[in-house]
Amino acid sequence: MLIDTHCHLDQLTDPAVALAEAAAQGVTQVVAVSESASSMSAVLALAQAHPGTVVAGLGLHPAWISQQAPEAVEAGLLFLAQHLPQAQVLGEVGLDHQWATTPEEQTFQEEVLDRQLALAAAAGKPPNLHSRRCPRQVMERAITFARQTGLNAQLHWFTHSRKLIHQCNDAGIYVSVGPMVVDDPQTQQVALAIADELLLIETDAPVPIGGLPNQPARARAVAEKLATLKGRPLEEIAALTTANFRRYLSGN
Ligand SMILES: [Zn+2]
Repeated sequence: MLIDTHCHLDQLTDPAVALAEAAAQGVTQVVAVSESASSMSAVLALAQAHPGTVVAGLGLHPAWISQQAPEAVEAGLLFLAQHLPQAQVLGEVGLDHQWATTPEEQTFQEEVLDRQLALAAAAGKPPNLHSRRCPRQVMERAITFARQTGLNAQLHWFTHSRKLIHQCNDAGIYVSVGPMVVDDPQTQQVALAIADELLLIETDAPVPIGGLPNQPARARAVAEKLATLKGRPLEEIAALTTANFRRYLSGN
């Protein structure tokens, strides 16, 4: 089996069809991450409708945070505090310097992220982290969180720098590789640097990648490419990344 560990399932036109198409490709589990208060509700409903297939990720996305009034962010945090125990993952959370360019905006994102990580620590849920234009800052928070809580952390789409991957490997931080790996040589180089025991697969669907519409079934193409790059059978990559995801969830 294959697991898409980062997907915006609630944003797909027909999530049930997308899950069936994914299953036909061997992608039998999908982590549905959320971005806002309303998408957290949608993700919980999807997890309830597809038990065992949909893994619920609840959290407030930094780009969403930067576009809201403070009251809306507070309401989102309250919903998260109440519902995170029902989910398995905190996500999608993180920092995004495309949406936060001033020191004040960046500080606000950091404060909200720290509050979400505190909720995750209290509920015992590992985070699924976004890091656009500020990978080091997010990686350092992931490392601190893992050290302080004994829980794991996942950096999603974190395939820009081999130097940072080496630091993730040393600290035991999980990194997920998405469809960029299929055609992009730079992503391929970075993906090969991720320690075997920390490697995860994702799609970030429905974000279009490589000019193609994106859906969770595409996790198979990611796994196939990783198998080719590593010179190993697809079954081995599937078993490895599935075991990694189980360990990421369990906190060992
Ligand atoms: Zn995402």
